[in-house]
Amino acid sequence: MERQRLILKEQVPLSKYTTFGIGGPARYVAEPQDLEELREALLFAEEEGLPYLILGGGSNVLFPDEGFQGVVIRLARMNQVELKGNILEAEAGTTLKRLISVARDAGLSGLEPFIGIPGELGGAIVMNAGLKGHEIGDRLVSVTLLTFDGYVEELPPQELGLAYRKSRVRDMGIIIKARLQLTPGDPSHIDQEIERYLQHRKDTQPYGQKSAGCVFKNPAPEVSAGKLLDDAGLKGYRQGDAMYSEKHANFIVNLNQARARDVLALVELGKQRVREMFGYELEEEIVVIDAWGNNL
Ligand SMILES: Cc1cc2nc3c(=O)[nH]c(=O)nc-3n(C[C@H](O)[C@H](O)[C@H](O)COP(=O)(O)OP(=O)(O)OC[C@H]3O[C@@H](n4cnc5c(N)ncnc54)[C@H](O)[C@@H]3O)c2cc1C
Repeated sequence: MERQRLILKEQVPLSKYTTFGIGGPARYVAEPQDLEELREALLFAEEEGLPYLILGGGSNVLFPDEGFQGVVIRLARMNQVELKGNILEAEAGTTLKRLISVARDAGLSGLEPFIGIPGELGGAIVMNAGLKGHEIGDRLVSVTLLTFDGYVEELPPQELGLAYRKSRVRDMGIIIKARLQLTPGDPSHIDQEIERYLQHRKDTQPYGQKSAGCVFKNPAPEVSAGKLLDDAGLKGYRQGDAMYSEKHANFIVNLNQARARDVLALVELGKQRVREMFGYELEEEIVVIDAWGNNL
């Protein structure tokens, strides 16, 4: 079979690749389908003297209106999945939705709580995505990284600095695949659990609207950022087409043509009000990126 060449696009609006639907053009977007092409994409960035940025499902990032003057490397095509007994091995670009569905079909339980998180496996590990009582890190057996000096290393989760909505992965390399430990379960019960978790999301979050999930981390385990923002009167507060959701104040939604600068203005307002009214310093959960690919 003839090998396809690395897909490389120019001047692509990043709004297309983010659940926020926000972001100006990327100079290049590379879409590797395997490790070899990933290395090729990295080499391309190096040869062009451009910064690069790894993108998963784009469900936790805010790109600037000016776009990104470098190479966005989207991992969505690196999405092979394999089952080995109760262990699910998947490439970083596999969506959580697909992993949940593969596990369900094999009668394996453990991923149901993550239904409705619109990210990919790599992004979910980097952010240690989850919800109360469940984090993706709890399921990890190992993570395979392409390190910044070009080595492929399989590491146990203990080495990734996983904590509440964070990890050290971005300082270590690029996740290429991971292994998850699941437990046998009855498919009809798994279906019920999936439905239950999804319904809870629909009841409590602006499901179906453009957003990047929760904007801020909870400032302490029993202190909800959403409640603080709500008590600060921010539900429904709007700047341009960006708005603190009326359903869940820790979500900023893009009503139509929101710009990154509108979102950032709301972020600053939220921090300021919560600091002044309740004395808590809110920290962003969303990853805010500048035009050179730095996390702000
Ligand atoms: C409607 C909605 C609901 C959400 N609900 C939740 C929730 O309940 N719980 C929760 O935790 N989050 C939630 N989120 C946020 C988001 O979906 C998660 O953080 C998700 O895991 C991010 O994955 P991603 O693939 O989209 O990452 P991206 O947004 O693409 O990337 C996030 C960061 O990880 C880096 N990255 C991505 N892939 C790799 C890789 N392979 N190697 C190295 N670095 C990488 C990126 O450079 C970036 O810095 C929600 C978002 C939305 C829009």
